[in-house]
Amino acid sequence: MPDSAHPQSLWRDTASLAPRPVALLSALKADIAIIGGGYTGLSAALRAIERGLHPVVLEAAGIGWGASGRNGGVVSTKFRVSLSDIARRHDLEIARRMHRIGHEAMDRVERNVEELNMADAGFVRTGNLRCAHNDLAQSRLAAEAETARKMFADNSLTILDADQVREETGSADFVGGVLSTHAGIIHPLNYARGLAAAIRSGGGEIYEHSAVLTRSNNGSRVILTTGGGQVVARHVLIATNGYSNITAATAPVRGTLIPFRSAMIATEPLDPGLRATLMRHGRSYSESRRMMRWFRPAGDRMLFGGRGAFGREDSASAFHALETALKRMFPQLVGTAITHRWSGLVAMTIDSLPQVGMLDERTGFALGYNGAGIAMSSLMGRRIIDLMLGDRPDLGLMERNGPRPIPLYFLREPAVRTVAGWYQFLDRIGL
Ligand SMILES: Cc1cc2nc3c(=O)[nH]c(=O)nc-3n(C[C@H](O)[C@H](O)[C@H](O)COP(=O)(O)OP(=O)(O)OC[C@H]3O[C@@H](n4cnc5c(N)ncnc54)[C@H](O)[C@@H]3O)c2cc1C
Repeated sequence: MPDSAHPQSLWRDTASLAPRPVALLSALKADIAIIGGGYTGLSAALRAIERGLHPVVLEAAGIGWGASGRNGGVVSTKFRVSLSDIARRHDLEIARRMHRIGHEAMDRVERNVEELNMADAGFVRTGNLRCAHNDLAQSRLAAEAETARKMFADNSLTILDADQVREETGSADFVGGVLSTHAGIIHPLNYARGLAAAIRSGGGEIYEHSAVLTRSNNGSRVILTTGGGQVVARHVLIATNGYSNITAATAPVRGTLIPFRSAMIATEPLDPGLRATLMRHGRSYSESRRMMRWFRPAGDRMLFGGRGAFGREDSASAFHALETALKRMFPQLVGTAITHRWSGLVAMTIDSLPQVGMLDERTGFALGYNGAGIAMSSLMGRRIIDLMLGDRPDLGLMERNGPRPIPLYFLREPAVRTVAGWYQFLDRIGL
């Protein structure tokens, strides 16, 4: 199994629901078979149950083993591409639809947590503070807030000055920021395991350590095989996101995604006096730099995240770079120990938007969240089921008539390095 970094995550150490792994060891029938046990696959299974169907989820490792169990837990309405860019490239109407879909996605997480009694997920609508690293960035953030007000009647954004940001975060690194109330924080692995528990109690089946090895179609049915069994289903959903290269069964979507490693570190529990001066309102906080770093509280600890190593595995130097950045931003944490270091793969797409659609009449896919997928995968997992059943859910610009391959895919790794290097250069010269 590639990418073995999961064991050191803080989420695994603090998860309240124990995993209940059962592997597939027989031949089964299902209405819909789902490849991937992250938020997309789990949300799809829940929607299938709501629509009277019998879903079977097949997960190669454990529930939430992919990005869903190891992410930063920052729940937001955001797409990787800004809504004003969408309005410029397309039109205002589609930008408004995407704005609405973003809010529906955030609401969906909140509803899941409430309706499925997931107190353990610890979801709180804390808001997010985007911190400007220089004056140019602050003026851009202010312009975005103005656009949101004018285009989308969104008055939830407040501009803060340098003193307010320092007072709130505990860092003197920023010249200002923009506060959004439409964001929250969650315990990502508890959320994934909570969704899985709801599927099991709703009559759906979940098999872990059951990688789908082959996927074939006999005309009226889809047949999936694992090392120990087989599922024959009317429909199949590919929900493998940044982990679409584990087996050949998901090969058709692989060339549409660029996996990009995102890494996180967690401090030891902070002294209460020090903790009280940091992240005072318990929000999530992100920088305005292109190669963005972000932080949030997790109980009495600070979590700090950013770009991970290039390539398939973690690297000590990427974690060291994160720790250096944390201590530069918060010199008061210089003597603080880092207790957890982990990373995972996000899936980038050519247009920076998720992709949702049908490979053929029986096979759907929903993936490519570009590192901002907690809310969107919770919504798109549901909508792909509706699409597969012949409805027309609003997918905005995410709707695809088949996967959209990335041109010159074989060049993806050098291309990612080049783009990242260029972004770092722009950040360094303050543009
Ligand atoms: C370090 C990190 C930090 C992040 N922080 C945030 C954040 O703060 N906010 C936010 O909104 N988003 C964040 N994200 C992104 C977010 O976690 C993802 O967008 C979201 O979890 C995607 O869910 P998914 O179900 O589509 O994919 P995943 O959770 O990645 O699940 C895919 C699953 O498919 C399984 N699989 C693959 N191949 C097969 C096969 N052949 N057979 C069976 N199973 C298979 C894998 O084992 C995996 O478990 C972060 C991601 C990472 C890695």
